[in-house]
Amino acid sequence: MGMWFDEKHADGTHLRLRVRSVLFQEKTEFQDLAIIETEDFGRALVLDGVLQTTERDEMFYHEMLAHVPLCAHPRPRRVLVVGGGDGGLVREVLRHPTVEAVTMVEIDRGVVEACRRYLPGLSGKLDDPRVEVVFADGVQYVRDCQQVYDVILVDSTDPGGPSLGLFTPDFYGDCHRILADDGFLACQTEEPFFRAEAMRGAYRAVGSVFPVTRLYVSMVPVYSVWYWTFTVGSKGGLDPAEVRSKVPAGTVYYCPDVHRSAFVLPPFIRDRL
Ligand code: SAM
Repeated sequence: MGMWFDEKHADGTHLRLRVRSVLFQEKTEFQDLAIIETEDFGRALVLDGVLQTTERDEMFYHEMLAHVPLCAHPRPRRVLVVGGGDGGLVREVLRHPTVEAVTMVEIDRGVVEACRRYLPGLSGKLDDPRVEVVFADGVQYVRDCQQVYDVILVDSTDPGGPSLGLFTPDFYGDCHRILADDGFLACQTEEPFFRAEAMRGAYRAVGSVFPVTRLYVSMVPVYSVWYWTFTVGSKGGLDPAEVRSKVPAGTVYYCPDVHRSAFVLPPFIRDRL
């Protein structure tokens, strides 16, 4: 039968992936970390028993979290990434020719080190000269920050443990303060099926701060119900569903039509916000 990775999503629903080997395991200062080799999705990062990202479908998530706000912005130059320690999001951000500087604030050095070693396809751009990696709590960093950013992307673990503070009106208020007048905040906001409560809470918390707040969806095959949601707050009121700047070539999932259609919500999601 072999080894299986098993993640519970509800009492009667689990995600199971057949595992060829466990490549690395460590208890970091913040979480239990594992890198596993799966049969169908390649290597995968697991934190506290929760699947984070896999080599086979990580681009569905990272492309949509990066390119929707960055292509909706007229000229994104300064980007802040909170979380995202595997490096996949930074890789996508750097594909925008106007981006001059990316700061990635990741609380757990162990995640970056493990992903540099075992997931080079995701972490390979962290050494780009435009990237600054800061090991700190994103909540504290944003609270104390005196920089100005055009786009802030929050690529966090699910709400709980160190990431809890990343889903609050206070944190989103601090993000609003350090955004330029036409800036966007975009964050991963869970899925609408088993975690509708968390999705609604995050969406409403962003909405309590930003004049224009919209939810959009992506498909992420390995996540329990395939749907995943993101919430974007627009400080200056620009509609995030519009494509305004250059679209990176060679994407797997993102394209201008997917960008626009991602904001068309089925009633079961719209009615849960
Ligand atoms: N990018 C992946 C994906 O495709 O879903 C997963 C997200 S990434 C691994 C989540 C990161 O958020 C983790 O590396 C975790 O350490 C980091 N994180 C959690 N809380 C944080 C905080 N308060 N400040 C900074 N980083 C945090």
